[in-house]
Amino acid sequence: MDLEKIEKTGGVMMQGFYWDVEPKGDWWNVIASKIESWKKIGVDRIWLPPASKGASGAFSMGYDPMDYFDFGDYDQMGTTETRFGSKSELQTLISSAHNAGIQVIADIILNHNSGGQIQYNPYRNKNTYTLFQPKSGRFFRTYKDFHPNDIHSRDAEALFFEEQDLCHDQPNVQKWFWKSDSSVAKYYKNTMKFDGWRFDYVKGFDPSVIKSWMTEVGGFGVLEAWDGNADYLKTWVDKTGARAFDFAAFYNMEQAFDGNNLRLLQDKSALFKLSPQNAVTFVTNHDTEKDTNQGNRIGSAENKLLAYAYILTHPGYPCIFYLDYEQQLAKWKLERLILINQTLAKGDLSILFADTEYYIAQRLGSPGLVVAINNSTVTKSQQVYTNYKNATLYDYSENTAKSIQTDAKGLATIETPAKSYTVWSLKKF
Ligand code: ZN
Ligand code: ZN
Repeated sequence: MDLEKIEKTGGVMMQGFYWDVEPKGDWWNVIASKIESWKKIGVDRIWLPPASKGASGAFSMGYDPMDYFDFGDYDQMGTTETRFGSKSELQTLISSAHNAGIQVIADIILNHNSGGQIQYNPYRNKNTYTLFQPKSGRFFRTYKDFHPNDIHSRDAEALFFEEQDLCHDQPNVQKWFWKSDSSVAKYYKNTMKFDGWRFDYVKGFDPSVIKSWMTEVGGFGVLEAWDGNADYLKTWVDKTGARAFDFAAFYNMEQAFDGNNLRLLQDKSALFKLSPQNAVTFVTNHDTEKDTNQGNRIGSAENKLLAYAYILTHPGYPCIFYLDYEQQLAKWKLERLILINQTLAKGDLSILFADTEYYIAQRLGSPGLVVAINNSTVTKSQQVYTNYKNATLYDYSENTAKSIQTDAKGLATIETPAKSYTVWSLKKF
């Protein structure tokens, strides 16, 4: 009954921040202090917040990029350090992670800028804040680099930060983002030693932008294509060569757990069902966590834990949210699920049973598992045909102390306490 005897494979990503982390210039040190404990539980990547200087300076969460080459070492936007600390603190964090065998993922905002000086913009026939002369001396921009311009009036679907929406067809923008040795992509990779990329708001531009970036510097890439349509996510993955956050699975879980209809977990598509190796599954992130629209977040701590039980037993690469692990949910339960993910959760998915309140699925690899999720307020019990014949199965979730016996056809009765989950696999390894 000892999962430690099974060779661990894979890992999980930790989202190493939440919205409005304390603006003390100390966050890189906080994350650095967590590395050893995260390493122990199976974290193999840490996703950091945007690391370069934003328009709101020491209060910026980084999504208002002004100087892509100022990591807290130039005095501008009212501060030298960023909200998260200094450049040397960031570099110390990155090298500590590397020493622990953990990759560091940069949050990259390519769609828009903020914090430019005012200038006359002939394409809008008025003044716009489109003059960027950052103190790093790199990637100077003018109105020509934004929309509208001499090429066209706009790109893709949406103008976010309308007057500071970058045009990725402009040679100056391409050169500085990826197409030269002095590009942002090369600097992040070669000088700062980032291992991969989380691309912000990709719906604002063409997939070829990401494709170009990935072709230049490679590494792990994951897209924020905020859309619940699994086919749409698959299209982005196919066009870019990056993975994508599985917003389809996220909305399925939200409706299944908050809306009390676990059948949706069976009926609805998700990126991890279409392309498991390209899906990054998650339960919440810095945006959904603060969203006041209940439909955009999995509400209660109870339901979140059921959702973690789901993503950590199902296909896809799971991402754990900082506050959930460090503060909001029972640490040992998440740790147990992560261990299950690395040891038992292997092979194809087969759904054995689903009604509105009870869901049972199996992973068909070796040793594999049977997971049952009960979203009701009473104990649930259901007979299902598993792939384990004449076997004793044990509940590795530690939510019960039970073992069960399957018959020659694999038939077993799977019982799970109210608002809880069980994870069954062979009793001996
Ligand atoms: Zn454009
Ligand atoms: Zn909800």
